[in-house]
Amino acid sequence: MVIDLSTTHRAPVRTCVGCRRRESRVDLLRVVAVEEGDRLVAVPDVRSRLPGRGAWLHRCPGCLDLAERRLAFTRALRLRGPLDLALLRRVIT
Ligand SMILES: [Zn+2]
Repeated sequence: MVIDLSTTHRAPVRTCVGCRRRESRVDLLRVVAVEEGDRLVAVPDVRSRLPGRGAWLHRCPGCLDLAERRLAFTRALRLRGPLDLALLRRVIT
């Protein structure tokens, strides 16, 4: 009998808000919304330490595009307004 330890001892899994695939959280980037004046800016939470609600995303422009088109950040982070993704775009290339 073979027991596959790789699937039983895994890091916590999160769902990418872009492609909706489930992934170990170490392979995803946590994104939080930070208020800057009257704008909401998407900030990559590289150390997973920023407070508040987070959205998880592959470090992949395709997933960022998908998330933007689906308004996935707005939903995942429960935002009332549009989210500025310019900073995130510079990080995810
Ligand atoms: Zn993805």
